[in-house]
Amino acid sequence: MQDVTHAPLAQASPFPRFIGSEIYRNSSYGAWHPLRVPRVSTVMDLSRAMRWLPAAQFITSPRAKPAALTGFHTDQYIAALQAAETAQAVSDETRARHALGTPSNPIFTEMYRRPATSAGASLLAGELLSKGGVIYSPAGGTHHGMPDRANGFCYLNDPVLAIQSLRRNGAQRIAYVDIDAHHADGVEHAFAADPDTLLISVHEANRWPRTGALADCGVGQVFNLPVPAGMNDDAMALIRDDLILPLVAGFRPDAVVLQCGADAVTEDPQSRLCLSNNAHWAIVQALAAMSPRYLVLGGGGYNPWSVGRLWAGVWATLQGAEIPDRVPDVAQDVLQALTWQTPQRTRHPEPHWITTLRDDPRLGPIDADIRSGLQVLAARARQWV
Ligand SMILES: [Zn+2]
Repeated sequence: MQDVTHAPLAQASPFPRFIGSEIYRNSSYGAWHPLRVPRVSTVMDLSRAMRWLPAAQFITSPRAKPAALTGFHTDQYIAALQAAETAQAVSDETRARHALGTPSNPIFTEMYRRPATSAGASLLAGELLSKGGVIYSPAGGTHHGMPDRANGFCYLNDPVLAIQSLRRNGAQRIAYVDIDAHHADGVEHAFAADPDTLLISVHEANRWPRTGALADCGVGQVFNLPVPAGMNDDAMALIRDDLILPLVAGFRPDAVVLQCGADAVTEDPQSRLCLSNNAHWAIVQALAAMSPRYLVLGGGGYNPWSVGRLWAGVWATLQGAEIPDRVPDVAQDVLQALTWQTPQRTRHPEPHWITTLRDDPRLGPIDADIRSGLQVLAARARQWV
């Protein structure tokens, strides 16, 4: 007899999906904040100009309801964040407790709605991936958010909410890989004691938030690799092949979440790392084969040209689309229209920031600190697996 109490199993989507929103085009953290530059809208515009983003693959992000955020954040913090948006002001007590209305985490018009939209994408991604698939949410990756306070431009921690949502929707073992220039302190805070969440973060040493030490081990599943300024593509390829891929493969995850921050490239003003975007795309590609569910998030990225080019290339990689050496005029128009002002001057783009998406590779010697860090982590991985 047919069991009518069970709905038919949803089928995994046969193609990758992109979750975005117009809220990112139309909002800014303020005139001189690093997040004054457009990012997600550039990725959407470039992807459409390249004919990589048909309507059937685009999902408009829902905005998370306040109650959906309390899987990680406190009720009091969410209420304070909403109240700050409404009032466009905070009290001294709120600023001190919740770090709202600070230079890093300023008051701005959409200060609740915008992060709640990227959190909504991460929560939805967990549901949509219940039967497997690939989802890209470049607005996600706000990995510094803490339960009761904003931190480092991050009002909410959407990667934590994504991992929780994936778990509610059938993924037990989740590998989180973070290649932003900054340590994923909020994500480590959430899952350091969870043996079912593998945490790998590669980040610049001696840079804010100054957490993420090589020695952090959680319950054996935390692997931090602080890397010196100047890290190049050859070093990142070694890290990929000797650390990230073996750890993820050995973990046999039900889902992989990649935080693909774009601030570790040479052109970015917020780090001193020297990757080209090829390094990121190679990791995006390599991780795609390692689990049935794959969620790729954005993160940092503060040069409007380098972040737009890198993240559009991430989508091309997930799609299996070929990135041409020179992009067509319609895509060049998107890049040409970007502007970037600093308090001192207007920055003018390099010619290849307009005509190409792919950087030239940045090769070179591998720093001894990276090799020794990899040895420490490899020895720890042998004990853990
Ligand atoms: Zn960053």
